Order: sequence, then structure tokens, then C-alpha cells
Amino acid sequence: MLPVQTGRIPIGENVPARPLLIDGAFEPGSAEPFVILDPATGAPIDSVAAASPDQVDTAVNAAVRAQHLWWGASQPERSAALHAVAAEILQRKQELADLVTRETGRPFSRNLLYVDMIADLFRQYAELARVHGGRIVPSNESGQLSLVVRAPYGVVATLVPWNYPLLLLAFKVAPALATGNTTVIKPASETTLTTLLLAEVFAAATPPGVVNVLAGSGRTVGEQLVGHPHTDLVAFTGSTEVGTHIGATCGRMAKPAHLELGGKDPAIVFDDVDADLAAKAVVWASFLNAGQVCTSTERVYVHRRVHDQFVDRTVQLASQLRVGDPFESQTQIGPMRNQRGRAKVLEQLAAAQAGGAKVLTGGAIPEGSAGFYLEPTVVIDVDHGMELMKEETFGPVLPIMVFDDDDEAFALAADTPYGLGASCYTHTPDRVRRAYEEMSVGTVWVNDPVVDNLAAPFGGMRASGNARELGLEGMEAFTAMRHVHWNMRMEDKPWWYGENSG
Ligand code: NAP
Ligand code: MG
Repeated sequence: MLPVQTGRIPIGENVPARPLLIDGAFEPGSAEPFVILDPATGAPIDSVAAASPDQVDTAVNAAVRAQHLWWGASQPERSAALHAVAAEILQRKQELADLVTRETGRPFSRNLLYVDMIADLFRQYAELARVHGGRIVPSNESGQLSLVVRAPYGVVATLVPWNYPLLLLAFKVAPALATGNTTVIKPASETTLTTLLLAEVFAAATPPGVVNVLAGSGRTVGEQLVGHPHTDLVAFTGSTEVGTHIGATCGRMAKPAHLELGGKDPAIVFDDVDADLAAKAVVWASFLNAGQVCTSTERVYVHRRVHDQFVDRTVQLASQLRVGDPFESQTQIGPMRNQRGRAKVLEQLAAAQAGGAKVLTGGAIPEGSAGFYLEPTVVIDVDHGMELMKEETFGPVLPIMVFDDDDEAFALAADTPYGLGASCYTHTPDRVRRAYEEMSVGTVWVNDPVVDNLAAPFGGMRASGNARELGLEGMEAFTAMRHVHWNMRMEDKPWWYGENSG
């Protein structure tokens, strides 16, 4: 943990109501206000007025106008603006990390790292876009050029969840802007303040209309952006339920939709690794951000030979985690983000227990805690008939099953409609090969779970989505291909209708 101390941002009236960013100007929302709760206390942080349908429309139209100028600018100009975004983010690092801690409940020290990461992302795509273009392919005849040109889609509707409000936004907005798109962002309601603070960064570093930031619910502002005739691509991260609904709307309009959705990531612990160390890794991968990571380890399969040792060590480590105020420098696990999410996790746990599962540590709301805390929980005697092993559990729960051979382990890991990530712990190359050949997932982690590499593509398959972000692939995803067939002389063609042709 980094030894950085910070103070809480004052509650309520002391916090200036943050306005929306529309066409380069800050203005208050003109629809109903909504309240944002502090996950660590359950008390209100602030309220924000939502965008009205007219404001959504104005923002999209501004993004359409700005897009022509933004794409018409030179690549060095766009890249310079993205470098300015990165510099401004770092300038406001403390402020951003403070507010994201307040709104998400994730420990402050982690949030400092994430602010660095988003600055890094803007720099990465500023540089990649400077050198990555289209190509020239062989043409039909001599005297012709066949250019494969990369062009922006136009206006990107950016919709992100509350668990990583800055990072997941940067995954989309940095490559989208770098390649000449403009955007209208709708943050998750629960992390609106953080995103409106980031809006000040964009306003300082990009031309009016290139980035617009709204506030409001998914059902109103989100739906309008997705269905708007002038948004050209929807870039969404969130639940499978909402994502598939958005995909259906986009499908009816033939509008492309990047969907980064939920997961039920397995971990397989083979018998050729140090079981104590594997327990340490799995505990980190399960309880990071109170288990509210799309790629959290949600199911663990352990070889019988190392099972008991692994379980004992896991329980010991989980029960020692320091759960508490996210602004305390010693805190490892903060609260969950909302009451609704905690209630769902507790329901899954209760159902599993009714079906014979045994909770070895945790499983309860810490005594006397305000806010949305839940103890880190380790569960055994689970099976695939239980919701806990089938549905996404967006909270701090680590269920463990035993296996006897590799075939059984891979079959259990693959028994899911999701396909986001999977991790395995082994020193055996053939097990690694089986992991990446047999598992229908976007990421396989070997001995080092749930880390991002900004240079490599990230995303899911099946119920976990259809897109790739990060890396070169994550930039190409924001460009449409265009073919230019250019006959360099104007000359007659034998197949054109002539006087003697049939
Ligand atoms: P969510 O409920 O699906 O919401 C995501 C975003 O969509 C929010 O901004 C939400 O706005 C908006 N939204 C809701 N309904 C909408 C609609 N009908 N039309 C348009 N937009 C709508 O997800 P969440 O609960 O915030 O986040 C947790 C989920 O995200 C988990 O399932 C997690 O696995 C997933 N996730 C996936 C990844 C990945 O990369 N694959 C990464 C992180 C998280 P409101 O906040 O106003 O409802
Ligand atoms: Mg939600």
C-alpha cells in the first residue's frame, strides 16, 4: 500500500453541484436530480440533475458537428490533445483518486494507481494512432490503387459501469478519440461525480463537442443515446442483462455495439504448484475491489492432493483481510458499492447453504458497520446446481470445489455460459496449452491472475460479450474500414455499355 493520506471530501452542501459538459460548455441538467450514496456510510454524497431529452439531443448534435473538425485535424494535433488529457489527469490525480474512492468505496491507494493507468492509456493511444494507418493492397489492374483506409465511425455513445468508472471509460474514449471519433459519455449513476470531474479535464484539453458528458439513468439517458439516429457506435461495459438488451436495440438499427459484459471466471489450482502461494493469489483475485471486478475469480477448482492445504491457507488469509474505511491507508477491502448488490450476493449464499454449502469464514455483514460492507467469504461443499456457481456473484465470495484429474478440472471450468477470463496455477506447459486451447474466454492468466496489460487485447466471448479493448486491437475496434478503388487515369473500360455491346 502507498503511504498516502487523504481527507474525505465534505458531504452535501459543501460540494459544488457538478454540471454536465455539452458542446464545450458546462451547464446543469434540466431533468430530475438523483442522489449518489457513499458506499462506506450509506449517507448521501451529493445529488446531480439528470440531462433532459433535449440536452441529450444537443450533446449528440454537438458531437456530430465536432467530429468533422476533429477528423479533419491532423493526427499530430489529435495526439497532442490526448497528451494534454494525460497531463491534465496527472495534474488532478489526487482530486480524481479522492472522488473515485468516495464514490466506489475502493481503497484510495488502488485508485491512485488507476489514475496513473488512465493517463498512460491516453498516452499509449496518442502514440499508436500516430503510426498506425491503413494499407495498400494489390489492385485489379496496373494504373490503379486500392487503398484500405481506416476511418472513424463518427459519434461513439460511451456507457460504463460503476466498478471502474475511470479505467473502463478510458479503455473506450482514448482509442475512440485517437482515431477521430467524438463521444457522448453516460456514466453509471453511482459514479457520476467522478465522471463529471473528468469532464473538466476533457474540456481543458479537447475542442468543444469532442467529448460530452451527461448524467442520468440508463433507462432514460442511456436508452436515448443507444437509440439515437446520430450515434454511430455504442461502446458498453456492464451487465449481461443490460448489454444484451442494448445489443438487440443496436441490431434492429444495424448499429455496431461493443459489449463488455459479466463473467463467472474459474481458477484451476493444479497439484504441481505451491498451494500456499496459489491461495494467496486466489484470495487477491477473488476479493480485489470487494469481488466487484468483471474478471474476479468466482469459482475455484483445486486438485485433491493440495485441496486441504489450499483451503486452510485461503481461510486463514481471507479472515485476516482488513476490511474498512477506503480512505484508511491500512484498508485492503472496502464496502460493496450498493445495497442491491449486497442483497443479491447474500441471497446466493443463503441458497447455497440451504443446498449443503458450508461457509468457512465470513458470510455476514460486519457487526455495527454502516454502508454496504460484506465480510470476505470462503465456501466449500458447493456444486454446479447452485446459483453461486452458475450466476455472476458480484461480491467478496470465494467458492471452492475439489477435482481429481485434469479432464474433470477443465470440464468444470468450461461449464458456464460466460467466457470472460480464466486463471490456472501450474508449471506444466501442457496444462497451459489446454487452458488456452480449450477454454472459450478472452484472457487466460497463468500464475498471476487478474492483471491488465494495456498492450494486449481484453474482452469476452459468449455471455461475456463480443468486443476487444486495449492493445492495437482495441484501437482498430474504433475504426471502420473503407476501400478506395482508384483508377488513376480516366479511361474507357471494355465492360462499360458501348454502341456495340449487348
Ligand atoms: P449495468 O447495470 O449493466 O450498467 C452499466 C451502464 O449501463 C450504467 O451506466 C447504466 O446506467 C447503463 N444502463 C443501464 N440500463 C441501461 C439501458 N437500458 N440502456 C442503456 N444504458 C443502460 O452494470 P453495473 O451494475 O453498473 O456494473 C456491473 C456489471 O458490469 C457486472 O455485470 C460486471 O461484470 C460488468 N463489467 C464488465 C466488464 C468487462 O469488461 N467485461 C468490466 C466491468 C464490469 P445506470 O447506472 O444509470 O443504471
Ligand atoms: Mg446497474
